[in-house]
Amino acid sequence: MADPVDVLIIGAGASGAAVAWSLAETRMRILCLEQGDWPKPSQFPSSGRDWEARQLGDFSISPNVRRGAADYPVNDDGSPIKVANFNGVGGGTVLYAGHFPRMHPSDFRVRTLDGVADDWPVDYAALEPYYALNDRMMGIAGLAGDPAYPPKPAVLPPLPLGRSGAMWARALNALGWHWWPSDSAMATQDYEGRARCINLGHCIAGCAQGAKASTDITYWPQAVRGRVELRTGCRVREITTNDAGMASGAVYFDAAGVEHFQPAEVVILACNGVGTPRILLNSASARFPDGLANSSGLVGRNLMFHPYASIQGVFDAQLDAYRGPHICIWSQEFYETDRARGFVRGYTYQFGRGRGPVSTASWGMATGRIPWGVGHHDAYRKLFEHTAGTLAICEDLPEAHNTVTLDPTLKDAHGIPAPKIDYTLGDNSRRMLAHAVARGTEVLRAAGAHDVAVESPMAVAGWHLMGTARMGNDPARSVVNGWGRCHDVKNLFIVDGSLFVTSGGVNPTSTIQALALYIADSIKRRLANLFD
Ligand SMILES: Cc1cc2nc3c(=O)[nH]c(=O)nc-3n(C[C@H](O)[C@H](O)[C@H](O)COP(=O)(O)OP(=O)(O)OC[C@H]3O[C@@H](n4cnc5c(N)ncnc54)[C@H](O)[C@@H]3O)c2cc1C
Ligand code: SF4
Repeated sequence: MADPVDVLIIGAGASGAAVAWSLAETRMRILCLEQGDWPKPSQFPSSGRDWEARQLGDFSISPNVRRGAADYPVNDDGSPIKVANFNGVGGGTVLYAGHFPRMHPSDFRVRTLDGVADDWPVDYAALEPYYALNDRMMGIAGLAGDPAYPPKPAVLPPLPLGRSGAMWARALNALGWHWWPSDSAMATQDYEGRARCINLGHCIAGCAQGAKASTDITYWPQAVRGRVELRTGCRVREITTNDAGMASGAVYFDAAGVEHFQPAEVVILACNGVGTPRILLNSASARFPDGLANSSGLVGRNLMFHPYASIQGVFDAQLDAYRGPHICIWSQEFYETDRARGFVRGYTYQFGRGRGPVSTASWGMATGRIPWGVGHHDAYRKLFEHTAGTLAICEDLPEAHNTVTLDPTLKDAHGIPAPKIDYTLGDNSRRMLAHAVARGTEVLRAAGAHDVAVESPMAVAGWHLMGTARMGNDPARSVVNGWGRCHDVKNLFIVDGSLFVTSGGVNPTSTIQALALYIADSIKRRLANLFD
């Protein structure tokens, strides 16, 4: 049998990297098992001319299209929003757009403020030092002074607005709405060994320049130097427990398909809002018949995506197309609750640049804007470098019937039951999306769009996976406590997006990582009596 480790982390993505780096200073023996490999930037689509085509194949955001050795299938037929992820060192941060907002203080208190969902057991003030630490570790570009937030410093200068950003800013000024340069996980100057962003605009296909802060190039090199062992190509099937009901380690398959048992004193799950409930449900035993840590019945429930509306326009003015990181400014004009709008909570507009040449062609053809035959090239020219739009990211309220369960028949390459997603849009989300489309169309018109196309909800936008093992003080209503420890299994922790009690109306990764750092510090503070 393998030597036991002090801490076994499962998953090397956004949260797994942060918790590994933070715990490294304890000098405990720490091992991370990750089913994927280290990304190889020289093989990213952005290093070749076919970068857009590969985003429809081996670099798709959907694991069901990509079907790489590290991927597991996800049955998302029962959801209008399809799951997107990346399985490998860095996790979703390898493909993410790097848009890096924090949640607002109100997001942690929605029950108190709006009478819906639940309050979090932590608040913004508790997480604030960890948001700031994470911003420094990831190297976040931004501009201090955003009136939508409590004061926060900027680590690196903001991304350039470019033609599109300047156009959006003028339109938002004309409407008198809030806007601010986005906080973005892109190095705008050389930073900690990372080269600065050169505006290639391939961020969602992996940044070969190394400007985008994915955790394979931020936290992981430092964690590995701190003697954390990262074992790749290792897919965990289940967490095992001993006679006392404590986690005793994990069973996993290595890259050659050989099964191993890795004993551990403490186990930390960091497999995201789909992968973590999948492992807990796959770890059912006589003592934990409904899955591990699931006495509340909430493992896999309350799945939240962020419903997205896409509002795209065609303009006479020449814009940036794909050149530069996708999102340059945001507006949080409609973020906080105003019941006169017919829904509670709110959303953020993320204002983007435009499309690449192939994506312009396929979008133009699919939406009937580019005909075959006469006029084909002319129509293309009118679209390429002349489209831009906004995405509205809406707060998704937790609903118990939105679930991750185990598919009865679908399995991955190792025969491990795959996750099944059942999700429907809530009424609050529908009303919020309708509002976001109406007001978003207004801003596009104010910016000069003469043709507007809407997709709501966006089908491909299942890239934020939250809520399926939520935090709370009451063991009957939550899976983990206020510092990430499972109520039922005192040496089992969760640090990924599953923890979210509510989703906020912003991208989650800065909050996921701040929480992981907060939980790591809570563990360090309690090392002497961790399981009391
Ligand atoms: C296309 C795209 C765009 C995005 N854009 C943004 C954005 O602009 N801003 C933002 O905030 N967020 C964005 N996200 C979301 C962001 O990537 C996630 O929120 C974040 O990575 C989640 O962190 P995590 O630690 O919860 O999980 P992940 O980063 O997903 O890491 C989970 C890791 O666990 C591993 N794993 C899972 N199961 C097992 C197993 N059984 N055994 C071993 N290893 C396992 C996986 O391989 C993976 O590496 C985007 C995501 C995608 C896909
Ligand atoms: S735009 Fe910047 S962050 Fe995005 S891929 Fe290019 S260099 Fe990397």
